[in-house]
Amino acid sequence: MPGEVANSTSGPGPDGPRRAAVLLPLPLAGAYDYALPAGLAVADGDYVIVPLGNREVMGVVWGQGDGAVDDSRLRPVAMRLDLPPLPAVSRRFVDWVAAYTMVPPGAVLRMTMSVSAALEPPRAVTAYTLADPMPEAQTLSPARHRVLAVLAEGPPRLGAELARDAGVSPGLVRTMAAAGQIRAVALAADPPWARPDPDRAGPDLTADQQAAADSLRRQVADGGYGATLLDGVTGSGKTEVYFEAIAAALAGGRQVLVLLPEIALSAQWLGRFAARFGVAPAEWHSDLAAGLRRRTWRAVLTGAVRVVVGARSALFLPFPDLGLIVVDEEHEAAFKQEDGVLYHARDMAVARAHLGDIPIILASATPSLETVVNADTGRYRRLALPDRHGGAALPAITAVDLRTDPPERGRFLSPPLIAAIRQTLEAGEQAMLFLNRRGYAPLTLCRACGHRMGCPDCTSWLVEHRLTRRLLCHHCGYTAPLPSVCPGCGAANSFVAVGPGVERIAEEADHLFPDARWLVVTSDTLTGPKAAETLVRQVHDREIDLLIGTQMIAKGHHFPWLTCVGVVDADLGLAGGDLRAAERTYQVLHQVAGRAGRSDRAGRALLQTFDPRSPVIEALVRGDRDGFLAEEAAARRARGWPPFGRLAALIVTGHDAALVDRVAADLARAAPRGPDIDVLGPAPAPLALLRGRHRRRLLVKAARRCPVQAHIARWLARVPVPGTVRVTVDIDPYSFL
Ligand code: ADP
Ligand code: ZN
Repeated sequence: MPGEVANSTSGPGPDGPRRAAVLLPLPLAGAYDYALPAGLAVADGDYVIVPLGNREVMGVVWGQGDGAVDDSRLRPVAMRLDLPPLPAVSRRFVDWVAAYTMVPPGAVLRMTMSVSAALEPPRAVTAYTLADPMPEAQTLSPARHRVLAVLAEGPPRLGAELARDAGVSPGLVRTMAAAGQIRAVALAADPPWARPDPDRAGPDLTADQQAAADSLRRQVADGGYGATLLDGVTGSGKTEVYFEAIAAALAGGRQVLVLLPEIALSAQWLGRFAARFGVAPAEWHSDLAAGLRRRTWRAVLTGAVRVVVGARSALFLPFPDLGLIVVDEEHEAAFKQEDGVLYHARDMAVARAHLGDIPIILASATPSLETVVNADTGRYRRLALPDRHGGAALPAITAVDLRTDPPERGRFLSPPLIAAIRQTLEAGEQAMLFLNRRGYAPLTLCRACGHRMGCPDCTSWLVEHRLTRRLLCHHCGYTAPLPSVCPGCGAANSFVAVGPGVERIAEEADHLFPDARWLVVTSDTLTGPKAAETLVRQVHDREIDLLIGTQMIAKGHHFPWLTCVGVVDADLGLAGGDLRAAERTYQVLHQVAGRAGRSDRAGRALLQTFDPRSPVIEALVRGDRDGFLAEEAAARRARGWPPFGRLAALIVTGHDAALVDRVAADLARAAPRGPDIDVLGPAPAPLALLRGRHRRRLLVKAARRCPVQAHIARWLARVPVPGTVRVTVDIDPYSFL
């Protein structure tokens, strides 16, 4: 009950009021002191409501208060919420993430709260059941009879549900209740969460799988921090193996968090979890309905939820008793959050495991170089699963040299790839075409004057989308219809589409394989978990012959009839000079190829390329991941790049280009330099204009041991920045745009 909790925090001032520091979920410099009214006791982590300006906000008690504010100016805490406290380990995590990413702790705290609705107490909901006595049947309309018929079938029903099933308006349900023809009953809003059962039997594991599972189970049972790389080819059973670790954590009474990069695509994962543990886990991602979000957040905090599977934001849920973290597909770039607080969820998950003194499992078929180096140096343990389950062979990967086997003019599929797909379809199997580019064409230009259609607010070309008949900026979302005449020269009907997007590949495939049932899968078409579920079912039931898509189709799926994968442009990811371009290309193409031949039918993958001799393509064809990683590691070590050195980016943005340039130049002049640290730039960002803001970048390059954050903090304190210019710090940047 409020006010009756042990008072561990609030210290009475010698004479003045007792006070507490309260951290607010706002980007303020730190916690604020508030006075505690007589009779109100609070402890660290308690959720409280406090005044701020002329409104009331929710915050979390964050220590005793430092007395910096004069007693007389302290405002009182309004109330303490009836909730378990934010656990101590979560509070340390907030402070740690804030210090690491160089954002105010309140901005991180906000991620642990997510929705203020989560803090409202659960409401009872009204349901309806049959009245006793029943109304006289002959006095009722047919609609009212239908309502009674639905209720006669079973338990009390929610109003909306009842109205839908009886085919009446919700208003009629309420009218009947008011007239006593049916009875309203209160139901608790939060039905209990079903508990996953760790004792159900999993599949019989192979010897390799069993050895890995035993090792993980032991580690979970022993407890304590430890990071393990679960390194196994696609289809080797990594999921089944880490399910054993989850079972061990559950058997020990602990909570479990599983982070997946694309929760929207995890229908199959959820099904497998339910098959193994008897119930579905709690989900946490941006598509969650508000009510379920609120229930889930609360149930994590009270411990009612035992397993959460979620996107990166799930890491900030207030687990009181987290005993294991699993990061699946740990190499995925999607774990890096690129707006708001810039953090890498995999790295923060390792920090969370460290703070909580619990084990963490990083699973991947193509682990990141960061993780591989940590395993090589013994910071992480490595468990390997070298073989595909059931003896399925890895797909045979071949390169198609586009210089010797070019597609027809104006087309993008080469003769060898067309032949392979035709053969696959004729055998009654499924094929997939991968191109990591949404829309119809990445560039639209005027045949008469060469004018290119660009975004007015960004340094980027507009992408034509034929499905929606519009041009779209993939960076800011700006959209416009294709103009009827060229804005450059006024010519009519002069636009040509340059280069392919998936929609254009679909057009070509439709022409080549008129009988094939094809489907385009991108973030434009795969809009949520429901759509993903439908897709998976359609492919499983072989209602689709040919999938054409972006990386939305690259991940996680197990489609037994899919035997041929074509990569339309294997060179695409290598352009641009990003330090991880080669690594990422290897990962994506390996993963896409791995969709082929996941059961007893052999699979193959064809990579269309202009550079079959490039190290990435050669390594893919040879299946030599470790050789590729070794070369990549040597190159990065030589240049002091991550993971052998550290990077941080400063991005200076504003509407006034001259002012942005001046601030960037001031920053460069004041930059820290020394044997361990150097600053490159400023340079216009590749996206020199984004959403109407001019952007300049500086890159901090430092030795591994260098305390980069401290250097940057002192540096920023030396350089005055006008309010109209923003300086964003990106520690460990993954995007260099
Ligand atoms: P990964 O996560 O390494 O890609 P999965 O765990 O998804 O591999 O396993 C691939 C497929 O093989 C899945 O359908 C899985 O159910 C099946 N599988 C893996 N191990 C076993 C096993 N020991 N017994 C039965 N099926 C298994
Ligand atoms: Zn734009």
